[in-house]
Amino acid sequence: MALGIASTRTDRALTVRELMAAGKRSFSFEFMPPRTEAAEKRLWDAIRRVESLDPNFVCMTYGAGGSSRGRTVDLVGRIATETTLTPVAHLTAVDHSIAELRNIIGQYADQGVRNVLAVRGDPPGDPLGEWVRHPDGVSYAAELVELIKGIGDFCVGVAAFPQMHPRSDNWDDDIRHFVAKCRAGADYAITQMFFEVDDYLRLRDRVAAAGCEVPIIPEIMPVTNIKQLERFPQLSGSAFPEDLVRRFRAVEDDPAAVRAVGIDHATAMSERLLAEGAPGLHFITLNHSTSTLEIYQNLGLHRR
Ligand code: FAD
Repeated sequence: MALGIASTRTDRALTVRELMAAGKRSFSFEFMPPRTEAAEKRLWDAIRRVESLDPNFVCMTYGAGGSSRGRTVDLVGRIATETTLTPVAHLTAVDHSIAELRNIIGQYADQGVRNVLAVRGDPPGDPLGEWVRHPDGVSYAAELVELIKGIGDFCVGVAAFPQMHPRSDNWDDDIRHFVAKCRAGADYAITQMFFEVDDYLRLRDRVAAAGCEVPIIPEIMPVTNIKQLERFPQLSGSAFPEDLVRRFRAVEDDPAAVRAVGIDHATAMSERLLAEGAPGLHFITLNHSTSTLEIYQNLGLHRR
């Protein structure tokens, strides 16, 4: 299926906000800071392969703590200066004072980076453990959005949760808090990974019913090995539909068949999401671009 998404070199220099305002859909990829030299080489190979697809932006995640945080800042700077890609820098509030957050945002501004994804982050170790605010920091993503917007003309994205944030007690509170961070200045949202299109559509309807028009970009994460069947729900709080679990279990001893089911499901989800008017797709790569590129090709999106 060829989707005929318009894109030119000029589009790529636009912020996500400007792109959406122009009524264009957005296609993007997510990477994370590597831990070893070999992993760094793999990351750059993946970045270069993705670069040839001319995506609208690429994201670099920000660690919940420790040394990978500095690496995010360096890698985002390198993507901005050494490639033709538009980087979006993730930033979390975990263990940071407001002064430190200001300093990191200032470093992005110095590198000419105008796109930041503001998330609260989870406590290091146990994502559902007690959230402890830095004594001079912020408590929620909405405050981080406000801080970034107050520093300069940044385009700021936030997180959305098609199966509700795991810490939320009910949908009403969850949507109210999501809308509050949009009203704090968020330009768009990217969802947590999810495996049923209806979950995304219901979230979109709930947000619209609350009077919020911020575009919500669905995140696509293909299952490529059987261990991820347990890992992804732990990471995301998003359960797999039972019929999908059955499809994977039927071929669990055949790694190639598992991967094929994962790619087939992610392709079908992507097609339906676009047909339902999603403002784009955001692909998680885990720093291996192969399976996401396959989905991209299945969708007819290669070399837009
Ligand atoms: P918030 O919007 O602050 O919400 C957290 C919880 O608090 C929710 O239950 C919300 O309803 C509630 N809440 C919000 N405001 C209030 C209020 N005023 N009063 C009471 N309750 C409130 N993690 C990383 O460590 N690094 C990353 O790079 C990263 N990137 C991500 C990218 C995407 C697209 C997504 C979806 C998640 C990402 N995460 C990342 C994970 C994210 O940090 C966690 O999911 C985190 O638990 C939620 O962050 P948030 O920004 O949605 O938090």
